[in-house]
Amino acid sequence: MRGEVSALDVDYTLTPPPMEGIIFPESAHIQGKIVDHVEFMRLTLCCDVPFVGECARCLTPVSDRLTFDFSRTIMDEKGLRMVSDTEDFDEDEYVTVVDGMLDIDEQLAEALLLEFPSKLLCREDCPGLCPKCGKPLAEGDCGCPKKEMDPRFEILKKLLEKDENV
Ligand SMILES: [Zn+2]
Ligand SMILES: [Zn+2]
Repeated sequence: MRGEVSALDVDYTLTPPPMEGIIFPESAHIQGKIVDHVEFMRLTLCCDVPFVGECARCLTPVSDRLTFDFSRTIMDEKGLRMVSDTEDFDEDEYVTVVDGMLDIDEQLAEALLLEFPSKLLCREDCPGLCPKCGKPLAEGDCGCPKKEMDPRFEILKKLLEKDENV
């Protein structure tokens, strides 16, 4: 068996961890493989999950999907104890096989939380809500007077308003 590389396909779904203000309409889809390099095994996965959240500026629903890569070296507990003594040991680089089982759900859920965008926006340049009436400004001008209006326009606007009232 020495030197022979075998691979195992991984394809399953994971229930995403609960997140405040976020709805996961479907389970996360995990796809990838485990490659046996004899001395160690390497797990490379891609996680894909659709989600619905809220724009941080205008509060309109945002539907998007989160996709991220997840790769770890698989070790048994004995192997992990050995590498954990080395200087550049990074616990997050490894997953352990316990009693012949590889359970990565918890680590995947953790990675999902880390990878999740800290701020959702309906679009990059979302102008947010009108501070006066609360209407999303992306839907067009709500008609409220703007704070930083050019004073010259302010005068013009007053003149126009007068006209309307006549
Ligand atoms: Zn928005
Ligand atoms: Zn307004």
